Amino acid sequence: MRQVQEDQAAAVWEKFISLVEEDERVAELKSCIDDINCIDREKLKTEVDINKLIRESYSHINLMDVKAALNKKPVSTNEDEEPWINLIKQTIQVKGERRKRGRLVRPNNRYWNIWREAQKKRYCEEDQSLRGKEISYIPFAMELTVGCSGGCSFCGFSAGRLKEQGTTYKQQEGLYTEILEHMKELAGKEYGQHGILYWATDPMDQKEYEKYAIKFREVMGTLPCTTTALAEQKIDDLKRLIKLYKTSEKDNYWKLRVSIRSEKAYRLLKDQLNRNEQAIIEINPQYGWLEQTFAKAGRAYKGQSIEEQQRHGGSIACVTGFEISLPLRRIRLITPCLADEVNKNGYRIISEETFDTSQDFKDKVDNMINEISKPNLEPNDYIWPNIAKSHYQVYKDNETQSILEALDQKGIKIKDLLIGNKRMSTQAIVIQITNLIRDGSIKYRKGGEQINTIRSAQIHQGNDARKQQEYFGPEL
Ligand code: SF4
Repeated sequence: MRQVQEDQAAAVWEKFISLVEEDERVAELKSCIDDINCIDREKLKTEVDINKLIRESYSHINLMDVKAALNKKPVSTNEDEEPWINLIKQTIQVKGERRKRGRLVRPNNRYWNIWREAQKKRYCEEDQSLRGKEISYIPFAMELTVGCSGGCSFCGFSAGRLKEQGTTYKQQEGLYTEILEHMKELAGKEYGQHGILYWATDPMDQKEYEKYAIKFREVMGTLPCTTTALAEQKIDDLKRLIKLYKTSEKDNYWKLRVSIRSEKAYRLLKDQLNRNEQAIIEINPQYGWLEQTFAKAGRAYKGQSIEEQQRHGGSIACVTGFEISLPLRRIRLITPCLADEVNKNGYRIISEETFDTSQDFKDKVDNMINEISKPNLEPNDYIWPNIAKSHYQVYKDNETQSILEALDQKGIKIKDLLIGNKRMSTQAIVIQITNLIRDGSIKYRKGGEQINTIRSAQIHQGNDARKQQEYFGPEL
């Protein structure tokens, strides 16, 4: 069903792209809608204001066209509307389809898949905001620079300053391609296509971003989604991307997105683009009254309450998989969470490694997945919380909370936790610890001498063991 909807979205987009070229009303209407979204609400409060804007700036559309395009009723119920307006409405309405599809496709790798499903379930319970519902649990995000030149005060990832780029695309190409190939192998092509090439970075800071995007298409079969907040400052690069995204496959619908940080930036962008170029970009304002609705994460996290986070969202971290820094040769296995004092950027880092070669990358990634499927816990291992005390309550059951409460920030040995907890069975505690490690809420470090592994307790039959089997399948 969802595939059908995405196919329809792709077909709508294909028609939209060709109509933009044929009928100048289409690009004018899209531009006018961007004006309404991006110009200060005080200046465009009434229909009279909007009418004035249309008369001053557009010559082929009128107020009725704009009202019809913005009418949220499904297209099929408005059959008397003109076909070109219907097409614009449809094009606007398909914006969220890829994200919805992204939530449903699954990684090829069985353990990654099971872990991701468990993480989806956990985070959906933790963050029931509209923004939380839009998290699509994509497979990976690759950083192509270190830091970002944006310096946004609200940055959901607290991106650091942009550092000088020391390498060229040519120098990175081999390793980059191998990384993509391995991601495709583990994630599968369909899920792998949802990977992106930025995180606490901006694509436009990477001077050769276009080449990375083209290679991504070679490997994954489609261009990556690209969002930039620097568009008005890097107009030549943006124009090249517009050409690339406009002439490519039909499933490029709304894949090129621009975040606008002020009305001035919007006007600057508009002045430098022609209307047909603007028509194919999704333009999202990120200022004014909208600032109240930002996710409370990264630099926007100021210790807000869980209730406040649950109103507007506590994370923008959409990856349940790998955060990869190409310049730093670093991989992290991450999962979203409500931002807290420990995980201010709205995601938990479950494990982190560095790599030198593509083989090293593959080994480390495979190892991370194996580890998350079967943490090799032993009684002398140290465990400690990786979640702020204020957020223990995101776990609704008392047993999980009591385990977190019993942990020392400096770490305690698993065997000491077992000795101190008389209410729960060893198996039940081990299963709770294992699941908390998988959620990134507990970290662990190998301890001293190895006694009988606790894992042997996990495979004993019983209710708790059954729960464990439900999570990762019987053969574990
Ligand atoms: S919000 Fe985006 S552009 Fe702004 S600092 Fe963060 S990563 Fe950079």
